[in-house]
Amino acid sequence: MAGEPQADCLFCKIVAGEVPATLVRESETTVAFRDINPQAPTHVLVIPRAHHPDAASVAAADPQLAADILREAGAVAADEHIDDSGYRIVLNTGAGAGQTVFHVHAHVLGGRGLNWPPG
Ligand code: 5GP
Repeated sequence: MAGEPQADCLFCKIVAGEVPATLVRESETTVAFRDINPQAPTHVLVIPRAHHPDAASVAAADPQLAADILREAGAVAADEHIDDSGYRIVLNTGAGAGQTVFHVHAHVLGGRGLNWPPG
């Protein structure tokens, strides 16, 4: 069922505290933690506590939760002091776009120049 924890999901395990992560923010509905393989000086992942596989599915199932993820991504940027210089929120969607963990997550990247278009 949409939103239920999945036994084989790495990020559900981080939400449950079964896999360690460096948490930087929590809300009632979301958790934010540092990426294990950072691609920028600030690289934080914002995830919903509920399991949804990708951005489109969370937006369809629970639009308020999708908004919570974006609000928390902005709050992470402010906490990390990257909001003045500019930062990027990335939601890789589908394996062809580089999604490797199928529990929706917003990458918050900043602290260096960011090129466009992305690779
Ligand atoms: P994706 O490629 O799905 O858009 O992003 C998945 C992200 O999760 C990658 O940037 C990867 O480095 C990160 N990641 C994978 N496993 C772990 C983990 O166990 N802990 C943390 N903190 N990040 C992880």
